[in-house]
Amino acid sequence: MAAKMLLSFAICRLIVTVGLTLNPVELLRLGVDGRLSQDPSDVKRASGDFGGLSRAEPLAVFRPESAEDVTRLVRAAYESAHGFTVSARGHGHSINGQAQTANGVVIEMSSGKRAPPPWVSEKSRFVDAWGGELWIDVLKSTLEHGLAPKSWTDYLYLSVGGTLSNAGISGQAFNHGPQISNVYELDVVTGKGELLTCSEEQNPELFQAVLGGLGQFGIITRARIALEPAPQREVDALMGKLNFIPATVFTTDLPYVDFLDRVHKAELKLRSKGLWEVPHPWLNLFVPKSRIADFDRGVFKGILGNKTSGPILIYPMNKHKWDQRSSTVTPDEDEVFYLVALLRSALDNGGETHALKYLSDQNRKILRFCNDAKINIKQYLPHYTTQEEWMDHFGDKWALFTQRKIEFDPRRILATGQRIFKPSFSPNTASW
Ligand SMILES: Cc1cc2nc3c(=O)[nH]c(=O)nc-3n(C[C@H](O)[C@H](O)[C@H](O)COP(=O)(O)OP(=O)(O)OC[C@H]3O[C@@H](n4cnc5c(N)ncnc54)[C@H](O)[C@@H]3O)c2cc1C
Repeated sequence: MAAKMLLSFAICRLIVTVGLTLNPVELLRLGVDGRLSQDPSDVKRASGDFGGLSRAEPLAVFRPESAEDVTRLVRAAYESAHGFTVSARGHGHSINGQAQTANGVVIEMSSGKRAPPPWVSEKSRFVDAWGGELWIDVLKSTLEHGLAPKSWTDYLYLSVGGTLSNAGISGQAFNHGPQISNVYELDVVTGKGELLTCSEEQNPELFQAVLGGLGQFGIITRARIALEPAPQREVDALMGKLNFIPATVFTTDLPYVDFLDRVHKAELKLRSKGLWEVPHPWLNLFVPKSRIADFDRGVFKGILGNKTSGPILIYPMNKHKWDQRSSTVTPDEDEVFYLVALLRSALDNGGETHALKYLSDQNRKILRFCNDAKINIKQYLPHYTTQEEWMDHFGDKWALFTQRKIEFDPRRILATGQRIFKPSFSPNTASW
């Protein structure tokens, strides 16, 4: 009883703050009872992310148990008199507040304990996964059937909806394309609170919009992901196809799961030393092949002086493996482009070195250098603060991106933490 009164109070506050037209009893009848929280520890968690560079406090946190729950909440936001924003949060592994929202509700997609578990079709080789499912749990389910997704991220404690809203890349992307090129079908709750199934055949515009769409067009509640037979160990099969001098071989051969889950092992080590929960001013760039040597001269040898802390990833990808109808952007020129990822942590050296400022300044210098040298890089997991920068980022795709926004999220209530569009309602309640 006391819990019910507390919840009613929380919802009343939400309604007063955002001017929702529904009264608390009606909202309770919508069936969100028990899933909406204003508990300070929930609100605190949803206010931050892995990057640790920005914070925004939501009014409440919502933990859905089904796609219908998500639909009810988004529809309430869409239909409310003054509006409130809604941001899906996967595992909160963004760098720059992309899953945060002030004056709105964060939907914690990855913490609903009773969301549907992954369902595998061995015959058709796909898995249906909840949008908040972590890739590690998708992998565990598919391995029970001897199958595994084709395309990966290097780190598996990321949500299906979170990576599909970006692209989802790793060393395999040159071969299979990014994760967004390996999805057959999605269930999506649009910014109008409609739950739609979409694929290349059904609602294709929504399908393409949502893939790499930075959460702007809808909330992914289910993804049908392509599978292949899971290799047991990788190395012998791969080496068999190559010519090489045997004495020069250096390999690390691991069971497939250990290979895929390798970054988590590093995470556990860093956590035990207290080195995980520090700011992470990461920078991820796509660099066209024809300019990678200029990038090397200007950035690695120039700005970074051939030395830097933290892991650096560099690998090539093929543009034809990326569906240009999706919302992602790749460099305009060249079939081949490289991911260059500077994954640095701001570890303060006894308070004397302002590591965060130093690394952030270096990132800015790198972007300025690319601009001045006319190296047409594209940011992966992009972060911009003005609409002009976003227009520049999307280039020819900007018109289509805005057209899709008008169609699927006309009140601009979704994923405002990306800072692409301002919500359509009163600036007093706008979330950025
Ligand atoms: C340690 C680490 C390793 C990483 N490794 C890789 C890698 O190898 N490859 C790679 O591609 N990326 C990698 N990333 C980046 C990662 O893909 C992105 O940060 C991604 O956004 C994180 O997923 P998340 O589930 O935490 O999403 P969040 O950070 O919670 O959300 C990201 C964005 O997606 C939106 N969103 C979340 N869920 C949904 C949904 N269900 N429907 C619609 N929109 C949604 C949010 O509103 C937000 O705008 C890594 C990040 C970290 C911290």
